[in-house]
Amino acid sequence: MTAVVYWFRNDLRITDNPAFAQARHRTNQTATKLHAVYVHDPKNDAQTTWGFERIGAHRKTFLAQRLQDLSLQLKTIGCELPELHGSPQDALSAFCESMLTKQIYCEDIAAPEEQAEIEDLKDAGLEVKTLWQSSLLEPADLPFDVQNLPAVFTAFRNKVEKQGLKPREPRKPLLLGEDLPESAAEKHLKHYFSGYFALTYKLTRNQPMNWSPDEHFSTKFSPWLACGAISAPMIYAELKRFEAERGANDSTYWIWFELLWRDYFRFLHLHHGKKLYIKQGLGSVDLAKVPDNRQGLKRWCEGRTGEPLVDAGMRELAATGWLSNRMRQVVASYLIHDLGGDWRAGAAWFESQLIDYDVYSNQGNWLYIAGRGTDPRGGRRFNPHMQAQQHDADGVYRRFWNSN
Ligand code: FAD
Repeated sequence: MTAVVYWFRNDLRITDNPAFAQARHRTNQTATKLHAVYVHDPKNDAQTTWGFERIGAHRKTFLAQRLQDLSLQLKTIGCELPELHGSPQDALSAFCESMLTKQIYCEDIAAPEEQAEIEDLKDAGLEVKTLWQSSLLEPADLPFDVQNLPAVFTAFRNKVEKQGLKPREPRKPLLLGEDLPESAAEKHLKHYFSGYFALTYKLTRNQPMNWSPDEHFSTKFSPWLACGAISAPMIYAELKRFEAERGANDSTYWIWFELLWRDYFRFLHLHHGKKLYIKQGLGSVDLAKVPDNRQGLKRWCEGRTGEPLVDAGMRELAATGWLSNRMRQVVASYLIHDLGGDWRAGAAWFESQLIDYDVYSNQGNWLYIAGRGTDPRGGRRFNPHMQAQQHDADGVYRRFWNSN
């Protein structure tokens, strides 16, 4: 009988964490010990090939807070959360050796670097059990094989809805008598649905930002989802409870709709994997030798392009680690279609800055705007002047961020 190690990756929660529940179940059955760990990989402190740090200050702070939340919850079930430093292979091999075990449980992440980490652990002789658990819908429940994922989001959504597909129920975390402290993520989820924001979500979601801290023009679930402090099925369960109590409308439907976009980009990774990381994306034309505008990239990152709406967005991102969906579209489009920048550099900058950085959604959205994904319309250009007229007609957003 050996102990089991649970390696937390982008699933920093106990509630509705099937992989963690499996590991726990295993140790309960065999009366062995469960050791939870988190690994800080020094590669994330390095510079990217684009000349900036891979993970910026906002992301680091947000992650540190979520690890604290998780650690508090784990304590109530008798688990510590040691934070290891090193590559997952080195850090986990040494940790497993000291705990006299070879068994690791963790979530499955379908992105190339994360897949390579699992292969490295196996090469080091560890037994790794991974479980896919970051989508709203289970890949196995889809009405088609993921290798036949429709090329367009609308076709995907239509198939899912025609089938009446629903997410699984969120799993309860607890053994009898256990009482977990509520995490900041769970508080936010509850807070959002305790107001009436969801009833107007579709009308407000394209605003550039909130003007009062009590407002929510969009759900702001993304930072919590990205680190896994809440799961998509947990949101869905709250959404349905809200609709049962306060009524369903176009806006409440649209929250489900956007969560389906999130799933679509996940399934896209399951289908295309590494192809989503080359410059040409899924396109057939080899773009490897096409030069890109590095000076433009620098000005873009610094919010000094001279285009007021774009600069306002880039300054907001640098100052807060967050940006509305509309502003993400505007600044991404500007880098690609106006400055001639490489979409992968933009994606890397977002990876460095966004507190809600999510490998699937980030890569998928950048590919979509660049026209290098599955979208048949060949890219999306957002005209910054028209966008400013539509979404910042009084110029308050531009003045606010460009004033210093
Ligand atoms: P809401 O509008 O309230 O939507 C609810 C949830 O639906 C979100 O939390 C998110 O999980 C999902 N969602 C909404 N829009 C999208 C979308 N376009 N694609 C995928 N999921 C979506 N989102 C990330 O979570 N991480 C990223 O790294 C990321 N990078 C992006 C890069 C670009 C260039 C663009 C255009 C979009 C990116 N998005 C990313 C998607 C989207 O902008 C954010 O999910 C959204 O703005 C987060 O705010 P919210 O939680 O209030 O969203």
